[in-house]
Order: sequence, then C-alpha cells, then structure tokens
Amino acid sequence: MTADSLLRVSELNLILLGPPGSGKGTQGERLQQDFRLPYYATGDILRAAVRDGTPLGGTAQEFMDRGDLVPDEVIIGVIGERVQSPEAADGFILDGFPRTVGQAEALGIEMDGLERSITAALLIDVDDGEVVRRLGGRRTCVKNGHIFHIEFDPPKNEDVCDVCGARLIVRDDDKPEVIRHRLDTYHDKTKPLVSYYEEQGLLKRVDGMLEPDEVGNRIRALLATLRLEEEL
Ligand SMILES: [Zn+2]
Repeated sequence: MTADSLLRVSELNLILLGPPGSGKGTQGERLQQDFRLPYYATGDILRAAVRDGTPLGGTAQEFMDRGDLVPDEVIIGVIGERVQSPEAADGFILDGFPRTVGQAEALGIEMDGLERSITAALLIDVDDGEVVRRLGGRRTCVKNGHIFHIEFDPPKNEDVCDVCGARLIVRDDDKPEVIRHRLDTYHDKTKPLVSYYEEQGLLKRVDGMLEPDEVGNRIRALLATLRLEEEL
C-alpha cells in the first residue's frame, strides 16, 4: 500500500432528505464544518452557476428568464459541475437534489461516469405534527425579518420584535394550512425517492424529533460507521 492510499480518506458523498422544518439546513451546515465537505443546496448552486457564468449557468438563466422551470438535465449538469470540482474531491452534501426518482437515477449515472458512488441518503425523520409545531410557532418581524418562536424563542412582549420593536406576524409560509400543503407535496414527492434509496441499501434514517445537537451526534456516529465499513 502506498503512502498516498494510506492517507486517502474515503469519500462521503451524501444526500440529505427531510421535510421542511426537519432541521436539514442546520445539520447540513454542521456536516460541512465537521467533515469539511461542500454543502450544495440546489437553489444556491443554480444561482452560483448563473453568477459565475458557467455554460450550464447560462442555459439555466435562459429558462429562468423565460419564467420556466429549469429542466432536470440542466440541473443535473450544474450539480455535475460541482461534484467534479476539486473542493468536492473528498465528498459533498446535496440538499434539495435529487427531488425525484428520475433525478436520482440521473445522479447515479453521473456518479458512475466519475467512478464514484453515493455513500448514503440521510433521511431526517420528523412527524407532521412536529413540523407544524416548529414552523407554525414562528413569528417574523415585519420590518427587518427578525425571527422568534412562541415556544422555543419567545419575544418578551407578544407580537413585538425584541430587536427593533416592529410588529411580529405569522408569514404566509408558516400558516398551518400552508404547512400542511407543503407537507403533502413533500410526502408525495419524497416517498418514491425514499423507497428508491432504500432498495439500493443507501437510506439511513435519523430521528429528527431529538434535539438538534443529538441529531448531529447521531449523524456523525452513523457516518463514522459507514467510513469504517468502507475501509474494511
Ligand atoms: Zn425586528
């Protein structure tokens, strides 16, 4: 065994799945810090590709300028650019992609072409009632967007922002009926994706009902185990 292969750490090519309010973004940021992996949220990637003026970014821009959805093959191309970039050599964290089984299959083909593979799809499981409790309790300041939570981070005075004194409101996105609709959409789209990764033996469920620190600890333990298994 050469020194090079001894030093080589196995890749962590991760997909994050979970409903809105599951803390997916928070966990993604922690993973990024703990494992020094780039964290790619699809919306951000598209915006960055457009900003950096990559050829695929240009194509994506054309669709967006027309007010059309960016087609799968363009998104896959943009993700592919990122996955092949030097910063993602040891792995990456994808959030918001793939969203459909079609996209997951395309990602698999892309990875095969690079002689790499997905290490795991992490599903942060949170039940619907908890999502409504987490998102529905948010209060947003109308003036500067400061965010409070009636249960977890209550303002000193009801309906008044502690920071700037502006009025606090429930954003449309945080209204229970809107949250339920977002959850329905999530379940419709994500269930087939969860089955897809389950069939491939790549799905890892994490209990998202726990405190964020504990969720983070469990994810770290899970990834450490995966790395060990891969090295054996
Ligand atoms: Zn405020």
